[in-house]
Amino acid sequence: MYNHTPAMVLALDIGGTKSFVGLCRPDGTVLAVRRIENRFDGAAAYWSALLDVVDELLTEKVGGKSLFHMAGIGFGGPIGRDGRLRSLHVGGWDGIDLSGDIGRRFGLRSTLGNDGNVAALGELTYGAGRGLDSIVYLTVSTGIGGGVIEQGEPLLGQRGLAAELGHIALYPDGPECSCGGRGCLEALASGTAIGRRLREALAAEGASQEALAAFPGAKEVFAAAAEGCPTARRVLDACLSDLARGLASIFNVFDPPVMVLGGGVPMAGDALFVPLRREMVPHVMRFRRGDVDLRPAQLGEYSVLLGAVALAMQA
Ligand SMILES: [Zn+2]
Repeated sequence: MYNHTPAMVLALDIGGTKSFVGLCRPDGTVLAVRRIENRFDGAAAYWSALLDVVDELLTEKVGGKSLFHMAGIGFGGPIGRDGRLRSLHVGGWDGIDLSGDIGRRFGLRSTLGNDGNVAALGELTYGAGRGLDSIVYLTVSTGIGGGVIEQGEPLLGQRGLAAELGHIALYPDGPECSCGGRGCLEALASGTAIGRRLREALAAEGASQEALAAFPGAKEVFAAAAEGCPTARRVLDACLSDLARGLASIFNVFDPPVMVLGGGVPMAGDALFVPLRREMVPHVMRFRRGDVDLRPAQLGEYSVLLGAVALAMQA
């Protein structure tokens, strides 16, 4: 019987600040990968450079021949059901046909998804949600994004823009958010927000500009709290309490078997997960408090890349 399983899948993780291009096996093994920093002026130049890297990788690893037919792409921005790209970070994507370009230049059939949904699929297929059929995934990094997969299907919404888990509004008078709203989870508990909240607290205590510059993001805040800085401890507790409240609301809405946190902030490990689990419980519906399963992502910086492999395999 003819075996339809491809030997290799081309995977792309296109992000605002960096991208990965990889050749992977269907079982999730990364055979070769290139990391590309976005130093380009606009989406067209960035995309052109990524296509050149694909070309190099194929030439180097498979002699330029298409020994396989599949590609998966995780794109770092909302994708409408009409296929239109809406990056919030890099202008000019909306006129670019990612799948069409990959098809025309390399003869590969490609499938495209929003990076939150694709990362969720990656963790479900190869990572922390392996063996399950549903997952809620959040990336807590410079922003907060995510994806929801219910019985193998991503939640897309009417326009393809669903599962913006960072934009649950917790406080009507809270800080301004990148989405145009106020008091969103992202504006309160992303890595960027955690750094900003500590700088605001220190500024209120009369700290110098030099002192404030030492806290660009969450990593430095976790370190200062661990070293005993009372202001850092107080701000971090408040941020984690807000994150826990948001996660509990998400749990109540989606009833997932597992919630997985990826991105930079969860790298704090137990310093994040222990208080989060404890703080979530009072906000979870009473009869479901024993059901909360919050886990760190397992695929590190390859959640989206491997999710793109899984996406290609589904097509
Ligand atoms: Zn928002």
